[in-house]
Amino acid sequence: MTTAVREVSVFGDGIAYFNEAAALLNLDAGMRAILTHPSRQIIFSIPFQRDTGEFEVYTGYRVQYNFARGPAKGGIRYHPGVTLDEVTALAFWMTWKCAVVDLPFGGGKGGVTCDPTTLSMNELERITRRYAAELVEVVGPDKDVPAPDVGTTPQTMAWFMDTYSMHIRQNAAGVVTGKPLEIGGSRGRVEATGRGVTICALDQMAEMGIDPKNARIAVQGFGNVGMYAAKLFAERGCKVVGISDVTGAYYNENGLDIENADVYAKEHHNLEGFRGGDKISNADLLESDCDVLVPAALEKQLTAENAARVKARLIVEGANGPTTPDADRIFQQNGVIVIPDIVANAGGVTVSYFEWVQDRAGFFWKEAEVNARLEETLLDNFHAIRGISRARNVPLRTAAYMIAIERVVASLKLRGVYA
Ligand code: NAD
Repeated sequence: MTTAVREVSVFGDGIAYFNEAAALLNLDAGMRAILTHPSRQIIFSIPFQRDTGEFEVYTGYRVQYNFARGPAKGGIRYHPGVTLDEVTALAFWMTWKCAVVDLPFGGGKGGVTCDPTTLSMNELERITRRYAAELVEVVGPDKDVPAPDVGTTPQTMAWFMDTYSMHIRQNAAGVVTGKPLEIGGSRGRVEATGRGVTICALDQMAEMGIDPKNARIAVQGFGNVGMYAAKLFAERGCKVVGISDVTGAYYNENGLDIENADVYAKEHHNLEGFRGGDKISNADLLESDCDVLVPAALEKQLTAENAARVKARLIVEGANGPTTPDADRIFQQNGVIVIPDIVANAGGVTVSYFEWVQDRAGFFWKEAEVNARLEETLLDNFHAIRGISRARNVPLRTAAYMIAIERVVASLKLRGVYA
């Protein structure tokens, strides 16, 4: 990959963050080379039949970035913007995310370039089954374990798990996580990423002297991550002043009724027409009056163009890669604290790990136990990150990468490189 491509690509953003931490760790050139190359990238065609009888062909991807710490782990995205570059970046981030919260997984990610909002349930099922069938040899509970991401749901995971199980002629609940409870899902998984966002945010708010009762929160994206984060912030007494989705943003300085917004979004499939606040643009939401901003939609939302106008004192990255390296530098100059994606949204993969453990044991935990273990895992590791950040005088993101890289390198060195 050339430098020019790296500068504009999503994977390039990831590499820039990696390089900063690798330099502080004095990581040698050989290790850097290994860790900046994906282990395996798979691209394939997904021919499928529309309900009208016509055939179309979409493109599917799976990137297995690194296996040093265990099976690859990472979601499947259905979105028109899915490219090999994006999936590679997301698989790269999963490698560090699993390591930074100390899970026995490597990093992976997958996707299909499609717009799921234009597809019927039957069409989505056919695409998912073909996607899973193409990957039967390379996924599995001890190989690579997908999960939901943007545009995919527990139902998508159920179709994936069933297709894989039919191919290998045995029930294989542990091949994917984020499944419905009835077929081996974990209690607490659906809201886990949003819960993790709030656990990290509230911990950092306490550190910064921001009282939850007076805190104004803005959340970009009202999907799985954003909606649950908003709900849990509201439950803790915070004022959620702004929310948004693809249809635009909704702002109310007195606080929005998140339960109502959720009911509305479920009924109408999005927030268009929601009357609980003033309609503003998505760009305005990012720059709105708030103490805490949670980007929970897609990559590259906070850039050199808008970073200086962001008013929040704390940014909690619910999405993967929402902040470009240029914007990150502006936040550092302006004293804005950023809790990086690889820890802020690690709640999802942490409970995915719990789901995988429960599936393997065939024994399922109570929700309170899942939530308690989640909080302990996130806070133990977040506090270690904060410790490094202070000791080395580096931002939380650099500290998080340093811990993650050290853990992956330790595994890699013990295993050695197979000749
Ligand atoms: P989702 O599909 O459930 O929701 C995405 C939301 O973002 C939708 O409300 C959509 O309308 C909105 N959106 C899309 N483009 C937007 C834009 N330009 N402006 C404002 N809103 C926009 O997806 P999700 O699972 O909530 O994932 C969101 C982000 O969190 C992604 O970056 C994903 O990789 C990351 N993430 C998800 C999980 C998980 O467990 N689902 C875990 C870790 C990280």
